[in-house]
Amino acid sequence: MQHHVQPLALVASAYGGFTGQYIAGRWVAGTEGVTSLDRNPFNDDTVAEISLASLSDLDLAFEAARSAQAEWAKTLPSERAAVFLRAVAILEARKDEIIGWIVRESGSTRIKAGIEWGAVRAGMLEAATMPSAAQGHIIPVDRPGKEARVYKKPVGVVGIISPWNFPLHLSNRSVAPAIALGNAVVLKPSNDTPVTGGLLLAKIYEEAGLPAGVFNVVVGSSATIGDAFSRHPIPRVLTFTGSTPVGRHIARVAAESALLKRVGLELGGNAPLVVLDDADLGKAVHAALIGRFMHQGQICMSTNRIIVDVSLYARFVEAFTEAAKTVKYGDPDLPDTLVGPLCNDSQVRNVRASIEQARAAGFRECLAGTIEGRVVPPHVFANVTNDSDFARQEIFGPVAPLIRATSEAEALAFANDTEFGLSSAVFTGNEARGLAFAQRIEAGMTHINDITIHDYPHVMFGGEKNSGLGRFNGKWIVEEFTTDHFVSIQR
Ligand code: NAP
Ligand code: MG
Repeated sequence: MQHHVQPLALVASAYGGFTGQYIAGRWVAGTEGVTSLDRNPFNDDTVAEISLASLSDLDLAFEAARSAQAEWAKTLPSERAAVFLRAVAILEARKDEIIGWIVRESGSTRIKAGIEWGAVRAGMLEAATMPSAAQGHIIPVDRPGKEARVYKKPVGVVGIISPWNFPLHLSNRSVAPAIALGNAVVLKPSNDTPVTGGLLLAKIYEEAGLPAGVFNVVVGSSATIGDAFSRHPIPRVLTFTGSTPVGRHIARVAAESALLKRVGLELGGNAPLVVLDDADLGKAVHAALIGRFMHQGQICMSTNRIIVDVSLYARFVEAFTEAAKTVKYGDPDLPDTLVGPLCNDSQVRNVRASIEQARAAGFRECLAGTIEGRVVPPHVFANVTNDSDFARQEIFGPVAPLIRATSEAEALAFANDTEFGLSSAVFTGNEARGLAFAQRIEAGMTHINDITIHDYPHVMFGGEKNSGLGRFNGKWIVEEFTTDHFVSIQR
């Protein structure tokens, strides 16, 4: 396929002035009559003031998507691809600006914001390949003169609800494929990240030349517009990324919609990282450290339980604790900070409660520190039992539970003894052993001799059990955002 990409001339000098909604290609005020302060979680600076969406704004957004979709679906594959290639060029030209927004609005460290920027860029490049990936079939059938075809078509309008932890990436990983495949979108970002979760992405696609109405962003209180979003009669597919309880609620509400819809759910996790007796200790410690403390533990694939064979346990605890002491925490804007502030006060309360829970259970506190503002320093607890409430929950914070397993079989049983099944990892010096172990883990994703956090735009992403339903990325997301139409011809 040939792409005719216009030379890029940036329209706006810098992205800013986010004050409301992006509906039908227009930047408009929300009409709920409520203004929300969007604050920097590290220093409480106000980064934007947003007038929130009302129920009628939500309707306008879905109607705009519906009216724009048919024309958009008729565009040539190369025209759709070109939007994403221009978006990539914009992302590159505005790299510092975009990373700055992620750091300021969500408390991301510079390290994590750089990774997120890279994930968005990769996702846009992958989206540029998708317009031609929606391929149908011609299928032989047992009837003379009959030709059976299956056409692959856009679903129409897609509704997307995204979280605050990787806001730009987790919004874009739904938005980009949905649009590339000829759908129109309404996105509701988290109120913690209205800009990087939605409005900034809208600026990028607007500047990249996406026609008005194909992509709409509504920023509103979940209490006001949440249920109306989930049960809205226009979207045929809804994708939600966030916590398991909210995901369940959304699936329930969506089931009441006047238009039945497919609901994709990417939910919470409790990733185990298992260290078998023949593992490279240094590499396992490093992977556990990065996998647990990256983005202060606020990642669905974060290493939530570190399960170590008894033969290595004492050495692992010591080496992990020593390494955790060297982790830089505090100001997310400094280049080598690994642990910045938690996103909001309720997260701080949750993580504080988890620490108290570990103390009350009598687990060995190897490393602790004083919580200042929203910055929680790395905490390490050893001799944690796998069936404790502390180990069973998803701890969205820089708190590491170290669990001892007496054998490989016990390590596997521990790894699987959880309601979640998103990511996982196993460390071993024997690749065949690692593979056999990996195949018995009840999870959507398992990594041998590496961290638990991996997301490639062309490789399947998703979870088992209460970590969700459906799959993202590559050909899997093509299935999510298209529908098949059987058309037969009798000759
Ligand atoms: P959350 O509280 O479930 O919120 C997720 C999104 O849902 C936000 O946009 C939120 O908006 C919105 N929301 C809340 N209540 C709603 C309702 N009744 N109707 C419609 N929308 C509603 O999750 P979070 O705290 O943002 O994110 C952390 C969780 O997400 C963790 O459990 C993490 O594991 C999970 N996660 C999963 C993945 C994955 O791919 N599996 C990726 C990242 C995160 P407001 O914030 O404005 O209320
Ligand atoms: Mg904020």
